[in-house]
Amino acid sequence: MGTIIEPFKIKMVEPIRFTTREERRRILQEAFFNPFLIKAEDIQIDLLTDSGTSAMSAAQWGAMMVADESYAGGRSFFRFEKVVKELTGKKHVIPTHQGRAAERILFSILGGKGKAIPNNNHFDTTRANIEHVGAEAVDLVIDEGKKPSLNHPFKGNIDIGKLEAFIERVRPENIPVGMITVTNNTGGGQPVSMANIRAASEVLHRHGIPLFLDCCRFAENAWFIKTREEGYADKTPKEIAQKMFSYCDGATMSCKKDGMGNIGGFIAMNDDALAEQARNLLILTEGFPTYGGLAARDLEALAVGLEEVLDENYLAYRHACVEYLAKKIVAEGVAIVQPPGGHAIFIDARAFLPHLPLNRYPGQALVCALYEAGGVRSVEVGSVMFGKPDPATGQETFAEMDLVRLAIPRRVYTQSHVDYLAEVVLDVFQNRDQVKGLRFVYQAPFLRHFTARFEQVEP
Ligand SMILES: *Cc1c(COP(=O)(O)O)cnc(C)c1O
Repeated sequence: MGTIIEPFKIKMVEPIRFTTREERRRILQEAFFNPFLIKAEDIQIDLLTDSGTSAMSAAQWGAMMVADESYAGGRSFFRFEKVVKELTGKKHVIPTHQGRAAERILFSILGGKGKAIPNNNHFDTTRANIEHVGAEAVDLVIDEGKKPSLNHPFKGNIDIGKLEAFIERVRPENIPVGMITVTNNTGGGQPVSMANIRAASEVLHRHGIPLFLDCCRFAENAWFIKTREEGYADKTPKEIAQKMFSYCDGATMSCKKDGMGNIGGFIAMNDDALAEQARNLLILTEGFPTYGGLAARDLEALAVGLEEVLDENYLAYRHACVEYLAKKIVAEGVAIVQPPGGHAIFIDARAFLPHLPLNRYPGQALVCALYEAGGVRSVEVGSVMFGKPDPATGQETFAEMDLVRLAIPRRVYTQSHVDYLAEVVLDVFQNRDQVKGLRFVYQAPFLRHFTARFEQVEP
């Protein structure tokens, strides 16, 4: 019996409101062809993000009911701390309300003018928090990681040669910390091998530089190591995750991903002095160190979620779900970033809609077409997100690629939802020559994709 079934039964359901194509056409018009502006109740399958959208288990909801909401020293904190300590092996665990709060605290202490922080690829909030304190965020992913159609088991690896050259050039005293993001979200959710984490830690440590993992998807990364890297097939995901953490000195986490929660994060570290400074900043802006801006019930849910996420049956199902969708659409000729990532599939919109020039935003056009065809919400990761008008000439600059991300929420959708998703993608693919391009009618001066407005352009 080869079918990998959802490793859970459904105890609580949330109805999906169905809409007709007619209605969706009107909704798209009213949202100015920007799905960020569509009400969630008008969406049938929401693949906007895997962040904070996980379905919690009965055990998580149960734990929330017995949470200890004491301001200081609450039982729920110690439960959360114990789980994170066991996972990461770090001495200090500081809860935060989400990943970017952990980043802001860490880089407020370590950043500053003249400092530079390497990573495979910085996630956008990580980069923004580093740049906000005047430091430089540098991406050193391997070259294979930048080639969408190239297949490589660990496209998220950091380039060890580039890392050595970077340290040589910038000097260790200007590099307060080195980071690795697992899995590499910005690079398409691609994993990092254990050998690469070890090699990077050796290089950094030789120069006295600590390594921090941006570990939002540590469990998905552990699964890739188990199934793709020699020597790990017989290890449990937990043992693999613990080994990953054994090479680093600290970690920042958004528990909205592999924490299986709807909110939360943490910083973990061994350095006592750094932890003291972090706690002081936490008190200033987030809350007392035993709740860090969270309700104790969130800490309880995360303590359970951080263990559930390492369940082998869950990870096998999680991975199978993404692979299954990828296989179905690739078989019919849809071009995606290869191999599919841990939490998402990225469709190559330029290949999908070759009749649309770059200034008709093929990624955004495809996002709208998927919504119109089947009520599916995805997100453009391309020129709408990363392009901008040149300040001098007003000429639009375009991103290197126009991708459409289908991010899969954890434990939310079943196989028939995924079958439907594939049908929607293939329906648009078969009628792709009818997809209309878009032009901007409004854009904000920064992060324009969230609020942009468009109109359709007749061919
Ligand atoms: C989501 C994410 C963050 C930021 O976390 P938030 O909880 O959204 O603030 C940082 N790094 C990576 C890799 C992420 O995926």
